[in-house]
Amino acid sequence: MNELKPCPFCGGEAKLMNYNGFGVQCKDEICIGHDLLPACVTREDAIAAWNRRVNGWIPFVMDEEGILQGKIPENEQEILVTDGRQVGFDTFINEDKCYLDSGRDLMATAWMPLPEPLGGEKDV
Ligand SMILES: [Zn+2]
Repeated sequence: MNELKPCPFCGGEAKLMNYNGFGVQCKDEICIGHDLLPACVTREDAIAAWNRRVNGWIPFVMDEEGILQGKIPENEQEILVTDGRQVGFDTFINEDKCYLDSGRDLMATAWMPLPEPLGGEKDV
């Protein structure tokens, strides 16, 4: 029964739901992981979809001095960030210290690279 990975946003437990199809969501009702519920025909698909999505988010892990550990974005990389409640677009700055361009860094718990643009590169 431990086939579900923990919620990437809050670290909490996830649960399998079954109503007109299967889906997995975070047990915490105010967590963003609670809403991200794909409807799948089979239990196995729902579990696989949840675990895949979990893998897409990279947690921000800080040591005791507030230094980011593990995988972090590159300087000026555009990323998606989440605080476990909302997902937002941001730019990661890695200079003397790391921060998000919007100033949301204190709330962000995880990030992921932007999805590849559909139909190739586009000049803006
Ligand atoms: Zn959660």
